[in-house]
Amino acid sequence: MSATTAGRTRYDATRADLADLLAGQPRFRVDQIWHGLYQQLSEPDELTAVPKSIRNTLQERLPPALATVVERVSDGNDTVKYLFELAGGSRIETVLMLYPDRVTVCVSSQAGCAMACGFCATGQAGFTRHLTVGEIVEQVVRAARKARQLDRRLANVVFMGMGEPLANEAAVLGAVERIHDDLGLGARHLTISTVGLVPGIKRLTEWELPMNLAVSLHAANDSLRDELVPINRRYPLGLLMETCADYLRAKGRRLSFEWALIDGINDRDSDARELAGLCRSLPLAAHVNLIPLNPTPGFLTRGSPLKRVHAFRDLLEQLGVNATVRRNRGTDIDAACGQLAAGQPVQLVSRGRRSDTSD
Ligand code: SAH
Repeated sequence: MSATTAGRTRYDATRADLADLLAGQPRFRVDQIWHGLYQQLSEPDELTAVPKSIRNTLQERLPPALATVVERVSDGNDTVKYLFELAGGSRIETVLMLYPDRVTVCVSSQAGCAMACGFCATGQAGFTRHLTVGEIVEQVVRAARKARQLDRRLANVVFMGMGEPLANEAAVLGAVERIHDDLGLGARHLTISTVGLVPGIKRLTEWELPMNLAVSLHAANDSLRDELVPINRRYPLGLLMETCADYLRAKGRRLSFEWALIDGINDRDSDARELAGLCRSLPLAAHVNLIPLNPTPGFLTRGSPLKRVHAFRDLLEQLGVNATVRRNRGTDIDAACGQLAAGQPVQLVSRGRRSDTSD
């Protein structure tokens, strides 16, 4: 085996790496093993059609990227949260969500996050490192295997776990290609969620795959957004909206805005009116996802009461904006939006109230 594959994890390895590793073997082996890893979701050990000596080499030279530290299942058995350890000791979380009509995995793109949104547990813990293509793809493979064990089929991937996907663009786009081309998930079932990194959104605008884009807005004026989402100081709303408009014109695909409702901060009627104004300024309708803020240790303010959440949604609808209240998944296992911190010690300031499941 050549030095190029040394230290690569099995889903970081390219076909060329595999060919290298299998030098001297019949050509079909590469396809056979690639098929085993991506279509059968097999461990190299399980590829019984491959000679044992080769399986051993693969097992040794293409180690897994993720070691399971904890696997937790929520009360309703519909959410599974994984805590994985990566090479070097960083930890990340991955969340598998089983809905009656679909199965979705929420993957991490970085260990930690540098965006420092104060209401997000990952932001509170800070940035550790970027994930590689293989570390991202393997999260999807692990979730797909688990779904299969439960007689379900994983069909959707959302980049809404730890990290800012567009701050680790090369690895995220590389992973999307693998997930699409090799795991065979449709691009329309893949969603990248961004805090609003304008250069990354521009790159997605030019990219051929028709995946979904979600932008975490949370505020519709610069003074509030500067506070809630600090990167807004670099990419303010005017520029962000212009970039979103270009994206919509080029792609013709639906764009969603994420809005975590924070009691008394961004849940007033005036906030809904400002948000509706932004949505109406776009060339195609945007969809608003409302998430009652989930509690995190480092943020004092709590989520909006459900009555307010519904009033906010109703007002948006009256103003002609499509809005959905996201169901809160996995709050009992700290697996909900913004609660992923991979066991990092986040300083405990106050505990917000737990918001109830709603739809
Ligand atoms: N960095 C990316 C993706 C990760 S977060 C982004 O910002 O979009 C996924 C979503 O959860 C984002 O919309 C984020 O703003 C939201 N979120 C973060 N903390 C939250 C919390 N405490 N309660 C509810 N949603 C939260």
